Amino acid sequence: MRVLIVEDEPWLAETLRSALVRERMIVDLADHLAAAHEAIAMASFDLALLDRTLPDGDGLSLIEALRAKTPGIPVIILSARGDISDRILGLDEGADDYLMKPFAIDEMLARIRAVRRRPADVVDEEVHAGKLVFSATNDEASINGVLLKLPRRELRVLAALLQRRGRTVLRESLEQAVFGFDDAVQSNTLDSHISRLRRRLSDAGALIEIHPIRGVGYLLREAP
Ligand code: CA
Repeated sequence: MRVLIVEDEPWLAETLRSALVRERMIVDLADHLAAAHEAIAMASFDLALLDRTLPDGDGLSLIEALRAKTPGIPVIILSARGDISDRILGLDEGADDYLMKPFAIDEMLARIRAVRRRPADVVDEEVHAGKLVFSATNDEASINGVLLKLPRRELRVLAALLQRRGRTVLRESLEQAVFGFDDAVQSNTLDSHISRLRRRLSDAGALIEIHPIRGVGYLLREAP
């Protein structure tokens, strides 16, 4: 597995490199866009970690070149807190996931495992997480064989989070999954659906956690 890291902060780049090398990965570093384009032209990568604010532009602009070379290559954006802007909300078309700086290396490794496990755009017919089974075909969730009765919007949130379990789902994607164009969406409405959903899952013993990713969205994973 060969990884391209595009990061201009030397300390962070080296930290990432050594963490991935310990995972037996082949790692290439580029500290600006032009160097990254050169690397992409010369090598085939299995994964890319992209910083956004680089000396010569936005790391997002590399996604197209990466995918032209290796269709479906998983891309994780490494984003500073201040970068959470409208532009990043358009990311779910391009990047598979992103990590908000500062992040723990273990979290990064977990996200890498998740994007490698789950090819983009694959819709599972049945999703298992914790004690919960979600059937996309029947559009219903059950726990230990017992149907979990959920209000529609909570079911939609759950389905959207399960489809990308272990990865961050943008707030905007969730809102698109849950609200129609004509629904007046108040800024805290999604959060209240999620907090009710979380309570119901916990009461039913689903062994699933839904974590808020501040300023970005939510992430669902199995309880440890
Ligand atoms: Ca940077």
